[in-house]
Amino acid sequence: MSSSLTGIGVSRGIAIGRAHKIHGDDLLVPQQVLDPAMADAECARYTSARQIAKMQLRAIRERIPGDTPRDIAAFIDTHLLMLDDRALSDAVTDRIREQSCNAEWAVQQQADHLVAVFEAMDDAYLRSRRDDVEHVVARIQRILLKGDKSLHVGKPDQPEPTIVVADDITPADVILLSQQGVAGFVTEYGGPLSHTAILARSLSIPAIVGVHDARKALNDGEVLLIDGQAGVVIGDPDAAQKTDFEQRQQAEQRFREMLAQLKDVPAVSKDGKKISLLCNIELPTDTAHTHGVGADGVGLYRTEFLYMNRTDMPDEEEQYTAYVNVIQAVSGPITIRTLDLGADKQVDSGRMAGPTPNNPALGLRAIRLCLKDETMFRVQLRALLRASAHGPVKIMLPMISNIEELQRARALIEVLKTELQSEGKRFDPQLAVGAMIEVPAAALSAPLLAQHADFFSLGTNDLIQYTLAIDRVDDEVNYLYDPLHPAVLRLIHLTIEAGEQAGIPVSMCGEMAGDTRYTLLLLALGLTEFSMHPSSVLEVKRIILEADVKHLRQLGRKLVASGNAVETAELLHRLRGEVARA
Ligand code: PEP
Ligand code: MG
Repeated sequence: MSSSLTGIGVSRGIAIGRAHKIHGDDLLVPQQVLDPAMADAECARYTSARQIAKMQLRAIRERIPGDTPRDIAAFIDTHLLMLDDRALSDAVTDRIREQSCNAEWAVQQQADHLVAVFEAMDDAYLRSRRDDVEHVVARIQRILLKGDKSLHVGKPDQPEPTIVVADDITPADVILLSQQGVAGFVTEYGGPLSHTAILARSLSIPAIVGVHDARKALNDGEVLLIDGQAGVVIGDPDAAQKTDFEQRQQAEQRFREMLAQLKDVPAVSKDGKKISLLCNIELPTDTAHTHGVGADGVGLYRTEFLYMNRTDMPDEEEQYTAYVNVIQAVSGPITIRTLDLGADKQVDSGRMAGPTPNNPALGLRAIRLCLKDETMFRVQLRALLRASAHGPVKIMLPMISNIEELQRARALIEVLKTELQSEGKRFDPQLAVGAMIEVPAAALSAPLLAQHADFFSLGTNDLIQYTLAIDRVDDEVNYLYDPLHPAVLRLIHLTIEAGEQAGIPVSMCGEMAGDTRYTLLLLALGLTEFSMHPSSVLEVKRIILEADVKHLRQLGRKLVASGNAVETAELLHRLRGEVARA
């Protein structure tokens, strides 16, 4: 009889194959008290296990095919660096000597300590790096406990496609499994931000994590169906379920092949309108993803990550180096947003002294914080100006709500240009400075702001929050978060119109820009620059290629002018109806 389990779908796609359970037994770590005279030998045993773990990882790294994205090798390098770090070398042997305990126990205690440190971090991405510690330690433990000296995780021996079922899978194992042609994997632990999940997405392997009891409920060798988007696993399916998944898999495959062919196709609508498709990035390593999708550049580089999980501020040199690295890794223009701290983006180094405000989203955040702490702002602006000598960069100011903020920031930039000039430091004198339009007041006064900005970028994540008075991070009011609310659509249209009249470009970098449900609507409202997560670019491009922008714009004008709810609903329906996939 078939069984159905659910977990978190972290890498979309349909996979059909036979279950292959690996690492099916949790490692039981024994605690032993040793004679202190044995400490040297135990330390040597630990050091040798660490060396074998390094050999295993180096062997895996060497087998990564040349066309694999660069960040994949970086995962292995991270684990190799961890194996050499004091935290997993001397710190463990110190524990062996101090506690006269066995190596397995000492490394487990050290791992627990490191995991606790990661778990205490504010940032979800860094917090999820605890997985790396666990994966590296599990590799050492397997060697210590089981004498595992193999350079691979065990090749599935069925000739049919295989779906791996495991308690957890390390990033290194994901690479090996993908080389062995594994069709998908299901794990009991892990989250969507883990390296394992990121890798599965990069390698396009359907994957589901967090399927509790997967190893108990699923039998080795039985047929499994997995839907990596919905997070559903079906074990021992009946004929109808199997046919359904086979058809979905074929449709998915056709859709992906078709999308991949669009990489080098210019994003031009059926009636000849060129649309610019850009990427949003947060970490410098995200630049790798912009290449595979043929994006025109970066429309939003969020610089907050540089300030996160540290107690000091990044200095000018550190920021300059980070920005230059991104500029050199991306082809096309890069819009770098100045620090957008405050509200939901808190970091230790940016926290202002004093009590937490009652309404942080309406408080001292983004440009307000930067203009108050000019010393901090100057450091970032100098670094950005210097980086502009290395490639096409634009500076984008977040949360602008009035002309004065824009003028003050621009005046400061001019002062810093003079300062850099007198120091003999290079920068782009024509560097464009633009405003994010994410506060209703900014959208409503867009024609005035346009006289002081070189470009606008619509931050719909915040614009919707502020327009509809709903906290974007509060689950209780999430149902009110409606990008199609007439007030939101009017503000978007106002901003685009103001940009057109002033002759300055207007892009959109909020999530709405990468959501294919809204692509036609945004074209109808006159948007010509879309910035989004790299994984959305090809799907949005596909819709643009089929669009008749002139006709859409007529519908858009009707939509904005319409005072009739029925007509509005009908127009919105027409603008969304054409978006059916494949
Ligand atoms: C936005 O508000 O739409 C935006 C892109 O900025 P963030 O999500 O970083 O606030
Ligand atoms: Mg915002």
